[in-house]
Amino acid sequence: MSRPARARINLRALQHNFSLVQQAAPDSQVMAIVKANAYGHGLVSIAQALPGAAAFGVSCLDEAIALREAGFDRRIVLLEGLFGPDEISLINGYRLDVVVHHESQLQWLAQGHLLHPLDVWLKIDSGMHRLGFAADHVREIVAHLRKIPQIETVRYMTHFSCADDLDNPDTRLQIEVFNQAVAAVDGEHALANSAGILGWPAARADWVRPGIMLYGGSPLRGHTAQSLGLQPVMTLGTRLISIKTCKRGDAIGYGADWRCPADMRIGVAAIGYGDGYPRHARNGTPLRVNGHPATLVGRVSMDMISINLDTVPNAQVGDEVILWGEGLPIDEVAEAASTISYELLCGVGTRVQFEYIS
Ligand SMILES: *Cc1c(COP(=O)(O)O)cnc(C)c1O
Repeated sequence: MSRPARARINLRALQHNFSLVQQAAPDSQVMAIVKANAYGHGLVSIAQALPGAAAFGVSCLDEAIALREAGFDRRIVLLEGLFGPDEISLINGYRLDVVVHHESQLQWLAQGHLLHPLDVWLKIDSGMHRLGFAADHVREIVAHLRKIPQIETVRYMTHFSCADDLDNPDTRLQIEVFNQAVAAVDGEHALANSAGILGWPAARADWVRPGIMLYGGSPLRGHTAQSLGLQPVMTLGTRLISIKTCKRGDAIGYGADWRCPADMRIGVAAIGYGDGYPRHARNGTPLRVNGHPATLVGRVSMDMISINLDTVPNAQVGDEVILWGEGLPIDEVAEAASTISYELLCGVGTRVQFEYIS
């Protein structure tokens, strides 16, 4: 048998989550965000399972070309636009949309030779202060854009910094800043990420841009994915490869950080930070063995983790261990590793075997 670390990708759960996007924003077109290999789920397989997406959002040319080469003729948006003037010919040749967020990109486009029409998403900084033009420059920037031959449709977008927190007033302010910035220009609007879609009705405009909710992670602080109706798409699992009985006081793993508080059975599962399981997962991080709750003990190794099997007296070598997914919300694991579901999902390594279930 080969190494048992595997990620099962449930495409029906993905489609269910997509339908929740459509329910929440019935009048919006959906740009499915599939950057970073579809949050670690597999770019092309995920895109193929989303026939209702009007567009795909990616972070670089390689991702966009992979989609085009796989036969997608839908709109593909480079969310950070072009990284240099040398990308113009491929962007144009593959008929990709670009976000324009900085003057340097305007210059490259103005000096480049566009052979085909190019659609642009003008990014407005409504308060996050990461990418985008200041709200009061929008008219001037649009005037610049309009002078560039081949620039066709211009759409407008912004991104939220705090939409996951329903009590944070910044999101409402960001929506106002954006709406004022675009009041005097024509074109479609795109504001909402997953948190915006589920938490901020005023942000559901012509387009929505769901990422994490498609994959079944909760975008809203204090709300579980389950309470929002979201289903986990990735279930990360492996198997027990060793079980031994350790004595009270025995140290487990690197650094001898954790010692058995009593005589107990300790299991070892074949997965570690070399697969994307977080090294900072704390003692007590939840996992499941044979469907029963159990906990991580000791430090995470590159290829292995140790498990307290007190709660699973019948556990045997070969039994299934679930790290997150069905039966174990990834948000709980992320919390125990002081991170977010996004990072865990993106980090799943190429060593893990992927299995798609439709
Ligand atoms: C990643 C990204 C999204 C999706 O965000 P989620 O929080 O995962 O829904 C939306 N818009 C832009 C511009 C992004 O970069």
